[in-house]
Amino acid sequence: MVQGILELKAQIGEFIIWILKLPLSIAFALFKGRILMGTPRKVHLVFLTAVLSVFFSSSCSLFQQREGKHMGAVHHKSKGPGGPVKVVTPDKTRLYEFHGHLGPYVVLGFRAARLACKLLHSPGYFDMSCEVTSPLSPPHSCFIDGIQVGSGCTLGKNNLKVKEGESISCVFRTKEGSSLTLILKKDFPLQIKKWIEKEGVEGAGERAWKIALEKVFEIKK
Ligand SMILES: [Zn+2]
Repeated sequence: MVQGILELKAQIGEFIIWILKLPLSIAFALFKGRILMGTPRKVHLVFLTAVLSVFFSSSCSLFQQREGKHMGAVHHKSKGPGGPVKVVTPDKTRLYEFHGHLGPYVVLGFRAARLACKLLHSPGYFDMSCEVTSPLSPPHSCFIDGIQVGSGCTLGKNNLKVKEGESISCVFRTKEGSSLTLILKKDFPLQIKKWIEKEGVEGAGERAWKIALEKVFEIKK
């Protein structure tokens, strides 16, 4: 709010300066014209052209400056190099293309990350970091790939930290300082194992898309 008022004040100030510059330029040109009296008309025309071109070029730079500020504001809001990331590929497709199959752990990692983005009002990617604890072998570690696709927190951007542990949990933190912790419920890996035995890995993955996340995770803000 305060920032908005300050920006508006700066823009009004710039606009007043811009309005004042035109008559000032003309007055200056006329004044100089009087000094140039008696000189050939061509000299007057060259002089007026020079004054007007200086005026217009400085006005253009003012507009550019204003646009630059605006872009700066958007940049600041999105907290990432290129602004908010537009995701156009359907969730299942991008998760499948990244990971190679849709097993229950990658699906749950993805859904946990999407829930974190939603509850923390974060676009993910550059705005958020995540620390995952998990056994470091599949199928459990597939969870980590789901986190990467769902939140945009990745190893390459160094906003994803992976720790080895006996069970799965993850902590999401935004740049603004809010955080969300999700802990996979203790008996849930056994439930997943039963799904896989009964319906295969992909069948268990389908179940993982549908189950209510409160049944899967302890969720702490
Ligand atoms: Zn997997």
